[in-house]
Amino acid sequence: MTVALKVRLYPTKAQRFLLEEMLETCRRLYNNFLAQRKETYEATGKSPSKFDQIKSLTGTKNEWQLRVHSQVLQNVATRVQLAFDGFFRRVKSGETPGYPRFKGRGYYDSFTYPQSGFELQESAVKLSKIGVVNAIVHRQVEGKLKTCTLRRQNAKWFACLVIETEDQPLEPTGESVGIDVGLESFATLSTGEKVENPRLYRLDEKALAKAQRRLSKAEKGAKARRKARKVVARIHERIRNRRHNFVHQTARKIVNLFDMIAVEDLNVSALQKNHCLAKSIPDASWTMFRIVLAHKAESAGRRFVAVNPAYTSQDCSRCGTREKKTLSQRTHQCVHCGLVLDRDHNAALNILALGTQCLQVDT
Ligand SMILES: [Zn+2]
Repeated sequence: MTVALKVRLYPTKAQRFLLEEMLETCRRLYNNFLAQRKETYEATGKSPSKFDQIKSLTGTKNEWQLRVHSQVLQNVATRVQLAFDGFFRRVKSGETPGYPRFKGRGYYDSFTYPQSGFELQESAVKLSKIGVVNAIVHRQVEGKLKTCTLRRQNAKWFACLVIETEDQPLEPTGESVGIDVGLESFATLSTGEKVENPRLYRLDEKALAKAQRRLSKAEKGAKARRKARKVVARIHERIRNRRHNFVHQTARKIVNLFDMIAVEDLNVSALQKNHCLAKSIPDASWTMFRIVLAHKAESAGRRFVAVNPAYTSQDCSRCGTREKKTLSQRTHQCVHCGLVLDRDHNAALNILALGTQCLQVDT
């Protein structure tokens, strides 16, 4: 299946200039191709094809066109073709559509890398003839990158990537789950099962703290400092890899087992904004877990729902009585119905109930 991923770009001033310039070059080419089709048709009764127009690009590029990736220019011919296809389809079906139009400034807002010339990085998109453009990538999608369209919307730039994933819809299991993420365990399921944080997290955190101390002590410009910085970078890399594996494996297991998955709606974008702040490893893992889980669920045809997290740990999952708890209270003990349950298990049951409610309202 294909997945579309829209990524907000943060180009530098120079990169923004290049993007605008490329867009303008493509707009002009679009209008040229359109005019060429019209004029040739009027003169000869035959219109040049998309391939004729693509061929006409070789060896005849002007200085602006030379600054644009060649496949991006070729894609403009495809767009003109699509405009004509749409026009003729509507004529055939008896409508009277308008002839494909010339695009004025401000009416042409995107261009496409149809095959190559782009690369998705962890927090950037690398574009041929532009460079590495900073971006906020909300989720990483495994699969083959197909196309990348750069789009200008209200003076903001976005990259829309189409990714072909290998995931297939899974057979229904008839099971649903609510998931509570917590401090003590990485996650608690409404089935009562707990997913523990990998032990190695704590070792990594210790090693990182030690390496960072050594780095801050090392003198500027000294050889030792360069070495210390390398060590810190290597530990970060190791943490990233471990987190990646743990999160993907955990999400995969859950998606395989459950048709409907409910989680708390943590404000992921707010969390990501503070991306650079020192954050504990489990913390960063939850954010990533949510993103990965949502995506895996989607591509497996599972239902994924994020519920309002208010009161999920206070309400009794059996009778609904609300009672405040302190963070240190690890057991839920209902004064009303007498239910005694692990605190996080109780929360996971509430999340499941809320998720089920949400879906019933939806459908
Ligand atoms: Zn109760």
